[in-house]
Amino acid sequence: MSPLHHRTPLLHSLALSERLGAEVWLKLESAQPTASFKARGMAAAAQAAVARGASRLVSSSGGNAGLAVAWAGRLLELPVTVVVPERTSPLMRARIAAEGAEVVVHGEAWDEAHRRALEVVEATGGALIHPFDDPAAWAGHASLVHEVAEQGPRPDAVVVAVGGGGLLVGVLDGLAAVGWGDTRVVAVETRGADSLACAVEARAPVTLPGITSIALTLGARRVCDRALELALAREVIPVRVSDRDAVAACGAFLDDHRVLVEPACGAALAAVYQRAPALAGARRVLVVVCGGASATREALAGWERAVLR
Ligand SMILES: *Cc1c(COP(=O)(O)O)cnc(C)c1O
Repeated sequence: MSPLHHRTPLLHSLALSERLGAEVWLKLESAQPTASFKARGMAAAAQAAVARGASRLVSSSGGNAGLAVAWAGRLLELPVTVVVPERTSPLMRARIAAEGAEVVVHGEAWDEAHRRALEVVEATGGALIHPFDDPAAWAGHASLVHEVAEQGPRPDAVVVAVGGGGLLVGVLDGLAAVGWGDTRVVAVETRGADSLACAVEARAPVTLPGITSIALTLGARRVCDRALELALAREVIPVRVSDRDAVAACGAFLDDHRVLVEPACGAALAAVYQRAPALAGARRVLVVVCGGASATREALAGWERAVLR
């Protein structure tokens, strides 16, 4: 089966290069059909499930993972159920439904939606496509690094946003696979969604009591075990940014590159706009512009009002 995701552009950014004082390259995952890198991993996991005989897909994510599963299911002509928590916005519910998926609303936060999704799997025999803890999804995400290795020069630092850590694992696996395994990886989270940074500091799994950041897409209370394991084994530098800096980066990036992204992605961009010390000494920096489908003009205005309060 050939992959469903698109090959995305690798763009040199004059504006960010000037800002950082280093060459900055952007891997534009915002250009995927579902507006985020999730199109890679979720589709890869869906195809793996089909190869095992699955006839239905189930997702527990009201965010970009759920949208990508719905999209993959439409292309693979499989019925899809996406269980979303109540806090999922009407916009994301509508985007998921527009892909033809059944949207079930259950529970306040992801954990409850996830438990309900497991019940749907039990009742229907469908395949659960996990939003971040699945080797098939990691392999799908890793494809972005393989493309970069064909498209441009070798970076000496890679900037990536971290939620549950699936993207981080994919990027680290991809770097190792192309022979760039010793590349510094700057793993960015917003304060209040900093489950990786807390776990790396503790050198042990940590479950946050709750998520207080505006970047709901980064809001996994605990990262997957593989992400922590790799973060401790490789050169991974966790960086925390404020919601305010993440949202400011969304606005600056819209002006600089005419691309609108979620605060989750703004967090990664903020590390560059803020010249994070973790990037010191790097001459060529790759930013994974992870994207996000909940970013609209109205949403950005709302995020700006919320952080300026
Ligand atoms: C899912 C997502 C993330 C975080 O990815 P994880 O694999 O959960 O770490 C970051 N940005 C966007 C836009 C996402 O959709």
